[in-house]
Amino acid sequence: MVSINYKSYGELIRQGNLVAFPTETVYGLGASAWNPAAINEIFRVKGRPSDNPLIVHISKVDMIYEFTNYIPPRAKLLMQKFWPGPLTIIFKKKNTVLDSVTAGLDTVALRMPDHPVALELINHTGPLVAPSANISGKPSPTKSEHVVKDYNGKIPVIDGGDCKIGLESTVINATTTPAVILRPGFISAGEIEQKCGFLPVVKKTSDKDNFTPQSPGTKYSHYAPDAPVYWLDQTKKPTSNSLILLHSAIQLKDGGMTILKFDGDYSRFARELYDWFRKADIEKKDAVYIEPFTKTQLMNNSILEAVKNRIEKAISN
Ligand code: AMP
Ligand code: MG
Repeated sequence: MVSINYKSYGELIRQGNLVAFPTETVYGLGASAWNPAAINEIFRVKGRPSDNPLIVHISKVDMIYEFTNYIPPRAKLLMQKFWPGPLTIIFKKKNTVLDSVTAGLDTVALRMPDHPVALELINHTGPLVAPSANISGKPSPTKSEHVVKDYNGKIPVIDGGDCKIGLESTVINATTTPAVILRPGFISAGEIEQKCGFLPVVKKTSDKDNFTPQSPGTKYSHYAPDAPVYWLDQTKKPTSNSLILLHSAIQLKDGGMTILKFDGDYSRFARELYDWFRKADIEKKDAVYIEPFTKTQLMNNSILEAVKNRIEKAISN
């Protein structure tokens, strides 16, 4: 393991530069949460719409008080049970929080990532805003080479290997009753009920048509490869230059297509989905076909809610 020079990365951030770093979900593009010029640079290099707010990443619970004066009891429970981890929590923001971070909302999104490199970096820099380190519209990066490719090597990347979850964090607003999951992720509504004793409602993907300003980013279709993505069904006749992702143990007659079988390993399916989207582009596939999930599969595997959400976004692109 190569040792990481946190001091020099910290210096880069302090000087207003961007540094990409690994988290357990996806690679983040980090800038100081208190540097307006660096934050503008994030929006510029990503091509990210300015009304899409950023998540602030912290490494110690006390850092939260830089951004909010009040932690609602249910948010406190969520922090105790799920931080560090893939859960982003919405808080009422302090007046001092930069508008570019919150896209002008009166709330701020905070998360403590469960990754030793991210935590150590933030210990050296203070809180970092860190959207996924991809060009807007591309799938989020789950390997350091994805970031290198999107930015032609122009942005420093701390290599922490492959991300172990591979999907963006669950985003929850616990300031309302009921609490609302604005973006599904690895942590499901069921797990929150089990550990915290309240069941959040999950905002439907189709709500993006009549979306509320509560979760601006969710109206944008992210996560899509250049090739069209479809659910695989009887009516579809994939060309031989297609990529087919099968997550159950079903067999498909090989017509020359690239067929990937995940044999019921849904964590691996989630972890590798974006990498396969990116490979489909590199290999100039005509289309990507994905085996749909059955009700039983969705019920028995909590990560599939998030996986289905990301696939639907890729399909609707
Ligand atoms: P990304 O950094 O691309 O993973 O996206 C972060 C997402 O978090 C945004 O697109 C929003 O959906 C959500 N988010 C961030 N800040 C807020 C906020 N203050 N209120 C509601 N949702 C937020
Ligand atoms: Mg993103």
